[in-house]
Amino acid sequence: MTGQFYRVKCKCSNEQVIFGKTATEVKCSECEEVLVKPTGGRADVKATVLEALQ
Ligand SMILES: [Zn+2]
Repeated sequence: MTGQFYRVKCKCSNEQVIFGKTATEVKCSECEEVLVKPTGGRADVKATVLEALQ
């Protein structure tokens, strides 16, 4: 999961588009849940991935 955008769904049901390769934590804009954690260049996506965007 790198170098690509993903549409993810938080457990609060908020949908958000995130970048698969991130250096910073991405939080849900609704509930502050951590959606993506950076792990040495490769993102660890905690939320449910709905689709990969081209
Ligand atoms: Zn949320």
